This record gives sequence, structure tokens and C-alpha cells, in this order.
Amino acid sequence: MIQLSKRQEKIIDIVKMKQPVTSEQIACSLNITRAALRPDLSVLTMMGILDARPKVGYFYTGNANQNIMLQKISNIKIEDIMSLPIVVNDQTTLYDTIVTLFLEDVGTIYVNTNGSLSGVVSRKDLLKSIIGGSDINKIPVGMVMTRKPIVTIRKNENVIVAANRIIEYEIDSLPVIEDFEDEGKIKQRVIGRISKSNITKLFVELCKG
Ligand code: ADP
Repeated sequence: MIQLSKRQEKIIDIVKMKQPVTSEQIACSLNITRAALRPDLSVLTMMGILDARPKVGYFYTGNANQNIMLQKISNIKIEDIMSLPIVVNDQTTLYDTIVTLFLEDVGTIYVNTNGSLSGVVSRKDLLKSIIGGSDINKIPVGMVMTRKPIVTIRKNENVIVAANRIIEYEIDSLPVIEDFEDEGKIKQRVIGRISKSNITKLFVELCKG
């Protein structure tokens, strides 16, 4: 059985009532942004519950896809397959960051500033700074990391959304984040990592049946 979130059920109700309805109208009814709505719409369309017709809008088809593999995948959440994140502080030298990359056997390291996610540094980012002649014993990783907007995901989102995001942004991994409050401000901390390897392992597991 496909488990739908409360919001996904609400979206289905809205589409049933107002079809054809645009994503803008759905977002407006739910009082959320179109960007926030997109993951749910893509899951519902992929499952065959909604049909998207370009320039017209969304229709309810009700034909939840009978594909068992797709049903299984649509029930798997990020928290079910995520790995531990490898995180360094923004003051860490490039040398120590590279050592961490080898010791932890990862391709991407997440960077924190005062305990909250401030950047991402990949293998090629580090190679670039080395061939550019940076003094890797002096330069802190905060100087070479990719800053905002960082592409992230949350633990209760669907794995299909993570796979789509990895393809769309042409990156190897996504930090899994959660909110925390720091002196009255909402910040994000990293609680996990989803990489192409996690998705490939899942694929292998699913094929075992
Ligand atoms: P590599 O650069 O080693 O091929 P990626 O393809 O993951 O590895 O990274 C490509 C670029 O995107 C790098 O500059 C990296 O810092 C950046 N990047 C990687 N992951 C993310 C992310 N989740 N959000 C934003 N930028 C990212």
C-alpha cells in the first residue's frame, strides 16, 4: 500500500475539487510556495495518482501505479537510507579537510559555521584550490567551499525527491538537514548525507526483491 503524507492527501483533495488546477493554484490553496509544493507534486505524478498536462494543469486519475517497485520506492524515506554526514568546521585547513576526505572515504564534506551548515566542499573544489597554488596548510576550507544556496533534503522526504535533486543539480550528494533555534534565529544543522552511493545501494537491495 502507498502511504501518503497529510499534505499529499490534501493536494489530491484540491485537485479532485478544482481540476484542472495549476501548481500555482494548489500552492495558493495550501498557503505554501510553489518550490515547497514541487516534491509532493512530482511524487504524486510519478505514482500515477495525478496527471500533469502542460499549460492546462493537474488532473486526478486515481490510477495509483500498479508497478510494485515504484510503490515500494515511494514508501522509502531519506531517514531509512541516509549515512552519517562528514562535517568539518569552516576554520579547518585544506590539508586537514583532504585528510578527512581520505580517512572517512567520502567525496563531499559539509562545512559548519557555529554549528550550522554554511557550505559544501567536493573533491574537485579541493583539487582546484591545489592546482591554483593555495597553501593548503594555511587556507581554511571556509575560503574555498561552495556557499548558499546549498541543495539540501529533510529526513522525512521521499528518496525519489533526493534522486531527482541530485540529477537536477548535477551533484554527488545532499546534506540531510533539520532546523534548530539559536538565539531566536532558525538555523539548519546537518544530521545525515544522501549520496549517489546510497541510491545505488537501494537500487541493488530492491532488485534482490
Ligand atoms: P565534484 O566537484 O567532485 O565533481 P560534485 O559534482 O558533487 O563533486 O560537486 C560539483 C559542485 O557542486 C562543487 O563545486 C560542489 O562544491 C558543489 N556541490 C556539491 N554538493 C552540493 C550541494 N548539496 N549543494 C550545493 N552545491 C553542492
